[in-house]
Amino acid sequence: KIVVLDGYTENPGDLSWDELAKFGELTVYDRTKAEDVVARIGDAEVVYTNKTPITRETLDACPNVKFISVLATGYNVIDVDAARERGIPVTNIPTYGTDAVSQFAIALLLEMCHHVGEHSEAVKNGEWTNNEDWTFWKHPLIELAGKTMGIIGFGRIGQGTGRIAQALGMKVVAYDAYKRPELVTDTCRYVELDELFSESDFISLHCPLFKETEGIINKDNIAKMKDGVKIINTSRGPLIVEEDLKDALNSGKVSGAGVDVVSTEPIKADNPLLQAKNIYITPHIAWAPKESRQRLMDIAVDNLRAYAEG
Ligand code: NAD
Repeated sequence: KIVVLDGYTENPGDLSWDELAKFGELTVYDRTKAEDVVARIGDAEVVYTNKTPITRETLDACPNVKFISVLATGYNVIDVDAARERGIPVTNIPTYGTDAVSQFAIALLLEMCHHVGEHSEAVKNGEWTNNEDWTFWKHPLIELAGKTMGIIGFGRIGQGTGRIAQALGMKVVAYDAYKRPELVTDTCRYVELDELFSESDFISLHCPLFKETEGIINKDNIAKMKDGVKIINTSRGPLIVEEDLKDALNSGKVSGAGVDVVSTEPIKADNPLLQAKNIYITPHIAWAPKESRQRLMDIAVDNLRAYAEG
């Protein structure tokens, strides 16, 4: 018996669960409230979850569970210690969205340089915002070739973003706790954090959220950056002290920002970034093209196959 606790099945035209159904009797729920988790798992052996927590109490109440698969990269929704004590393997899916998130970081970068959305909306509202119209100058265009992209966290997504940035003619300076010399080229080198801050025209965050990285974009570090720098965050909201970024955006020290993640999601009405100038905020969707979600499903099925085959 296989139970998917939150398959978001109500999404129209979306992915098929047929491959998973080949492994047994499959039940897919759209979402599951905490109080319904135990009843829905019942005597199932295999449980899939995306955001629904599986606690120690749940595992006590559902002794038949033999395999847990998280349909996401982060597995903090599972009490991993409790699973380990019971010999239940927990699998996650770390790589499915690398290209999607890299592409999204660059989409935010390009939007800050071209303002396609604003110009298109203006034209549809009857304005022709070319350079003869003063509103054009509210959204000046920027050429990227020759500019420097600072990347904090040069792992899978950071490297993907860096590759596209280089294809656009940018130089990349990267900061990472772990350096891979083979990534250094004529247009890509590792630097220390302060050098990254002082050299970059754009800074993109791709490090995980750890104690050392929380609040890495703060007042003191912003002061080390170039005037007019632009900041992109597709990693985790708490990497940025949002009050400090708001002040820097409103003063013009930071001339633009694009963030797909915020400190508390969904965003709260009193989030300071909602009071900032020149910022694009998207609702944590970088990972979500159909192609990457399909890859997530395929890997989830592969993980179950690996388990079933011992
Ligand atoms: P990854 O593990 O491949 O890369 C992370 C890199 O950060 C590694 O190279 C690591 O050495 C480096 N790092 C670790 N600690 C550091 C520190 N203190 N300072 C600087 N660098 C440090 O991970 P990834 O697949 O590239 O994902 C990066 C982040 O993207 C994830 O942590 C996640 O938060 C985020 N993400 C967001 C979305 C989205 O939809 N917006 C989707 C997937 C992942």
